Amino acid sequence: MESSSKFHLVTLGCPKNEVDSEKLAGTLLSDGMEATEDLNEADLIVVNTCAFIEEAREESIETILNLDELRNEESKIVVTGCLAERYGSEIKDYLPEVDRVAGFGVHVSLTKKSAIPEFDLLNLPRPESSKPWAYLKVAEGCDRACGFCAIPSFRGPQRSRDMNSMLEEVDSLDVKEVVLVAQDLAAYGRDQGVGEKSIISLIEEIRKRVDWVRLLYIYPSELNQRLIDAMCSLTVPYFDLSLQHVSSSLLRKMKRWGDAERFRDLIYKIRKSYPDAAFRSNFIVGYPGETEEDHDELIDFIKEMQLDWCGFFSFSDEEGTYASGLENKIDKSLIIERLKELSCLQDEITSSKRNALIGEKISVLVDSHGVGRTYREAPDIDGIVSVPDSCRVGEFTDLIVKGSLGPDLEADLT
Ligand code: SF4
Repeated sequence: MESSSKFHLVTLGCPKNEVDSEKLAGTLLSDGMEATEDLNEADLIVVNTCAFIEEAREESIETILNLDELRNEESKIVVTGCLAERYGSEIKDYLPEVDRVAGFGVHVSLTKKSAIPEFDLLNLPRPESSKPWAYLKVAEGCDRACGFCAIPSFRGPQRSRDMNSMLEEVDSLDVKEVVLVAQDLAAYGRDQGVGEKSIISLIEEIRKRVDWVRLLYIYPSELNQRLIDAMCSLTVPYFDLSLQHVSSSLLRKMKRWGDAERFRDLIYKIRKSYPDAAFRSNFIVGYPGETEEDHDELIDFIKEMQLDWCGFFSFSDEEGTYASGLENKIDKSLIIERLKELSCLQDEITSSKRNALIGEKISVLVDSHGVGRTYREAPDIDGIVSVPDSCRVGEFTDLIVKGSLGPDLEADLT
């Protein structure tokens, strides 16, 4: 392939995939290729897929088919990411549109010249961020075995990154906010035998380099007082707790820790130390055996806890997981009904929490022209703050909240 070849990269799925894509782009650029937004002029089309749940798989396949329709005839499509890793042979058999499948650790370029012997996305360089924030993947894989989750089976056990390589990466990114991601973030370092909660020393070091550190996805039992204190003093006061449900019996069936009472205590404990802390959580709706009582317990919890943000996902029957062998699967129509009830309830809570901020002074990091975020909003996930055009991109600005619309805020200088 000539040095002027162009690639078009499409990223689907979660923040962790975005980090992988940036690194993939980094290697393609160092191969001498150029990035292009124009599909028609791309020689290589890379689709970094997600296969976490059925919907994500469908979206991945639809994207591949759409790209195939729009691309030029000479171009090649390479599919990488979770779908490639999990369903590589099915893609090869049923999607002739795909020229190559590259699972984890396989170089996506079609050229042979840059074979990297041990291609490891964890430690590849990435291009400087064009935004004032960036994700930083601190580990890959997971040592847990949650009943619904196929990730450990195809991403493997947890492998934490070396702290120095991450700090170098943070320096090279030149951003104001670093968002730490991993499948089980607070367990960072456990596989390296460097001691419990080495995530705290990592946060301390990153905090010396950037203004905001944000942690995404925390398994609730990992959030002990030491980590809460560290987060309250070092990170933005934003707690993304991966709760998944609150019914004790259902959580046992999910092979997860906790119950409504423990989760309440945890949230109240954090609110006591940090009354203005923002909370996000995710819940699975319609896990096998979820009764009306379980659902009502979750509704009561949502009403009482008034979390800022919640994501509700319908249970997806994943091949090879513990849950796929369980009986009492919930009817799709009932799952949709429960999902709607929870989403409507949370939308109201989110709107009223946003509304309550009117008149408050906020510190906003301006992400792009006219758009910013406070500590309460994780990038690309939560709402945004509309800011005056005069606010400089990449800078922090103090503003006053003037209005709210659903999850979003509008702020002005005075
Ligand atoms: S913590 Fe559970 S849900 Fe999250 S990646 Fe690990 S096994 Fe999956």
